[in-house]
Amino acid sequence: MDLPVAVIGGGPVGSALGLLIPGAVVLDARCYPRDKPCGEGLMPAGAAILESLGVRLEESGFPTIAGVCYRLPSGESARSDFKEGSGFGTRRLRLDALLAARAGVRSGVRLEGMRPLTDGVELQTSAGPMAVGIVIGADGLRSTVSRLMGWSRSPSGVRRFGVVGHIATTGSVPDVEVSLLGEVETYLAPAGDGEALFAVLGPKGGLRDQGATLAETYRRFLAAARPDLGDAPLIGPLTGAGPFNVRPRRVAAGRVFLVGDAAGFLDPLTGDAMTAGLQQARELARLLAEDPESAPLKYQHFCDQQWGRRQRVTAIALHLSRSQTLSRRAVRGMRQRPEALQRLLTVNQGLEGLGLLRPWDWAALLGMV
Ligand SMILES: Cc1cc2nc3c(=O)[nH]c(=O)nc-3n(C[C@H](O)[C@H](O)[C@H](O)COP(=O)(O)OP(=O)(O)OC[C@H]3O[C@@H](n4cnc5c(N)ncnc54)[C@H](O)[C@@H]3O)c2cc1C
Repeated sequence: MDLPVAVIGGGPVGSALGLLIPGAVVLDARCYPRDKPCGEGLMPAGAAILESLGVRLEESGFPTIAGVCYRLPSGESARSDFKEGSGFGTRRLRLDALLAARAGVRSGVRLEGMRPLTDGVELQTSAGPMAVGIVIGADGLRSTVSRLMGWSRSPSGVRRFGVVGHIATTGSVPDVEVSLLGEVETYLAPAGDGEALFAVLGPKGGLRDQGATLAETYRRFLAAARPDLGDAPLIGPLTGAGPFNVRPRRVAAGRVFLVGDAAGFLDPLTGDAMTAGLQQARELARLLAEDPESAPLKYQHFCDQQWGRRQRVTAIALHLSRSQTLSRRAVRGMRQRPEALQRLLTVNQGLEGLGLLRPWDWAALLGMV
């Protein structure tokens, strides 16, 4: 192909594509370093893809994550290591800037329009027109590429939102900790030296107490999830995100593809989205190198399958967090049978299908052991 591949969006997924596809041009509307509301927990399978691209997270100072721990307000908990090695706490301010620099992202260039050409696509950007062979939208939840293609859809199902902030910690945070508080779930992850990420997820009305500020409510949830961190100072502002559960009508046709959040985002609770996006990027790069003509159909199929698995795992996670009774049963079951949680973590990373879970694992997750 004579014309270059253009990747719109230089987040982790767009930058990975810039590294995976020789000669690709990556454009981002914003300038780095820029932040992005995120739980910042990268699963081992996602870290392995970055490692294969020469990005050594441990050497770059990102803290490791050993596994996932589910906690209840009573203090009861269940945890499991990742079987596949370490995940990482990836403070996005640092990770995205590092990846964008490696991928040579052209920052401050916004995609504004697209027009088909006989052998490619003409992009209208804030830096002027640009003729490209293939366009890959890695431009996030409110993807311009998806909108310009007429593929965007509104979020579906129960509307969930997130509030994300960082706190100063003295001790280490070795795991991703999910606290099931009934009205909301919270998510604690290591973010760096003396810093942790704390996010609250739930329906819009549940994230702010009546008569209280967002920060006061956030702190109430922090104290409920981790009483020992209730007074931890906030670092930087709180940011909001959502609603989630949004997927475009399609993710590929002709010379246009979507990856990462642009290709759909389910819910932060499972912490798998960056990993899923990196897996899409790796697959799309492989398919384009093999045969660009057949790539759209094959890539759409890959994404449909991946979405189906992710939807089922998310449904399990949301179901278990829906009531205190279900959460308590599940945490007790997982404590008795940690391998059930470990297998679920493997499935959640896309390394195996749900068939990996044995009947006894299901019984444990449903609290029937
Ligand atoms: C509350 C919350 C918690 C989460 N927790 C986790 C977690 O623990 N683990 C995990 O793996 N994932 C998590 N996620 C999901 C994760 O943040 C996303 O999956 C990830 O950021 C997707 O990366 P991306 O590269 O697809 O898009 P983004 O990181 O959103 O990057 C998109 C880029 O596109 C650029 N862009 C947008 N429009 C244009 C345009 N018109 N022209 C040019 N550039 C443009 C933007 O400037 C941006 O830099 C969480 C998300 C939320 C909201």
